[in-house]
Amino acid sequence: MKIMDYRVNEKGYYGDFGGAYIPEMLYPNIEELRNTYLDIIAQPEFQVELQNLLKDYVGRPSPLFLAKRLSAKYGANIFLKREDLNHTGAHKINNTVGQIILAEKLGKKRIIAETGAGQHGVATATVCALKGLECVIYMGEVDIKRQAPNVARMKMMGATVIPATSGSKTLKDATNEAMRDWINNPVDTHYIIGSVVGPHPYPDMVSLFQSVISEETKKQLIEQTGSDQPDYVLACVGGGSNAMGMFYHFLEDEKVRLIAAEAAGLGVNSGHSAATSVLGKEGVLHGSRTLLMQTEDGQVVEPYSISAGLDYPGIGPQHAHLHKSKRVEYVSITDDEAMQACMLLSKLEGIIPAIETGHALAQLEKMELKKDDVVVICLSGRGDKDLDTFMKYFNL
Ligand SMILES: *Cc1c(COP(=O)(O)O)cnc(C)c1O
Repeated sequence: MKIMDYRVNEKGYYGDFGGAYIPEMLYPNIEELRNTYLDIIAQPEFQVELQNLLKDYVGRPSPLFLAKRLSAKYGANIFLKREDLNHTGAHKINNTVGQIILAEKLGKKRIIAETGAGQHGVATATVCALKGLECVIYMGEVDIKRQAPNVARMKMMGATVIPATSGSKTLKDATNEAMRDWINNPVDTHYIIGSVVGPHPYPDMVSLFQSVISEETKKQLIEQTGSDQPDYVLACVGGGSNAMGMFYHFLEDEKVRLIAAEAAGLGVNSGHSAATSVLGKEGVLHGSRTLLMQTEDGQVVEPYSISAGLDYPGIGPQHAHLHKSKRVEYVSITDDEAMQACMLLSKLEGIIPAIETGHALAQLEKMELKKDDVVVICLSGRGDKDLDTFMKYFNL
């Protein structure tokens, strides 16, 4: 049987999805990146610096932990890939560390980024402080009010946080402002996108930087189980970067079943959801052709999830392709299911996960696992940032 091609082609497409749908003013910036990113990343100096920072700054390799009490509950061997133990508490830093080195090699002096809940803004401000580069973060005015601790973190690390005051004053408006900034500052500025979304080459570049997750996992599985071929690999999907990193080195191994958990919010058909693979239609979002939630006349639908990191109206183009080609199974998990899964992991393993990650954990309830099955779950982040939500939800 011919294995499908799940990787990006030379034109920047994954099957029917991807590409670079951008205003003409952005062509020079995107062209520069597209023409250089693979060569720069392959340079030995780049790799040495990246590996050193991943080890001594981020704290990699992140452990692969056999969760025994969780395994006993579900009757299988469940491993947690501990991205929650990274510096700043999630996988996002894997990408920002990679992109900041790239920006330096390109001679950029100024970094911009957009952020919704502030997690990507913090991961970007962190690496800018590390490198002494100017950092400007665009964030919706509404989100700035909702996410005060992350705004304070960014400011402590020297970033300027600029409120986006148009539209719904949330993530998509912040993204528009960041794009505008980049058009106006094409020479000295690099735009760090935080997930496997945006115009080519961003989805490929971000997945490359996150692929360290599955690269390490395979080695750790061999040490701990004698085989690098688990039965199931699970991850949650907002834009899709922790999932792409977790799936990356398993894509061509069709025996490994890959499962991606999206946020159903209050329910897939409730009108308050972010389950893009079920509700989405093909269209263009943030510079690439992908699946997105939109009205009949093409307006982007405001997504909803209790977890800010999954509250996104689309998925990256590679996910759209993996969905259409059926290589990855996409499932929908409600707010309630995710919250219960977070409580369960806390009680059984002493690990409080991010609510985003709770969506991947909740899928365990729905699987028919066998005693010998090996399951790997990407524990994308820790739950400290979500304590307020836990306190309100569980009345703690
Ligand atoms: C941002 C975030 C996500 C969602 O982003 P992806 O690009 O889909 O990985 C998931 N988990 C955590 C902890 C996050 O911070």
